[in-house]
Amino acid sequence: MFAEFEQYAQKGLEMGFTHVAPLKADTIICRHEVRGDCAVNKCHAYNKSWACPPACGTIEECQQRIREYENGLILQTTGELEDNFDYESMMATSANHAKHFEAFSDYIKEICPSALLIGTGGCLRCKQCTYPDAPCRFPNKLTHSMEAYGMVVSEVCQANNIQYYYGKNTITYVACVLVN
Ligand code: SF4
Repeated sequence: MFAEFEQYAQKGLEMGFTHVAPLKADTIICRHEVRGDCAVNKCHAYNKSWACPPACGTIEECQQRIREYENGLILQTTGELEDNFDYESMMATSANHAKHFEAFSDYIKEICPSALLIGTGGCLRCKQCTYPDAPCRFPNKLTHSMEAYGMVVSEVCQANNIQYYYGKNTITYVACVLVN
């Protein structure tokens, strides 16, 4: 565990994340097969943001970027559902997670400007991304998505000894930050 982990983790929990764990950057594998989901545009974000493919670079470039770091944090927001079809609670948990991550991103960038922000489902910083007509408004706050980096979320959690599934009628959103 790196020296500042407890300080960062405490802040993350105060900001609303339900679980925070240390992340070893060398456990992250960027997989072409995950990026394949981007190319078929399952999330409708492909080619719509500076933070997503193709603008975020090739899988090899993403892996290379990750290799510049040693440590990081996995940040999770778990919510409870009434049942598997409780779409409202899923959306509410997702919105909470996005808020937690934006607050944490602002915090960590103050302390560690080189931190790499890899969130859930692309960059939500601006209502409308400037892509592709103008440069990114906040390149220092730009947030990639774990999927865009080819990361299998459950695999990254498992490799870093943090649960991903917290039981029946729960949903968990995951983000991570790399620091050096
Ligand atoms: S910070 Fe704004 S302009 Fe930059 S990638 Fe995110 S949404 Fe787009």
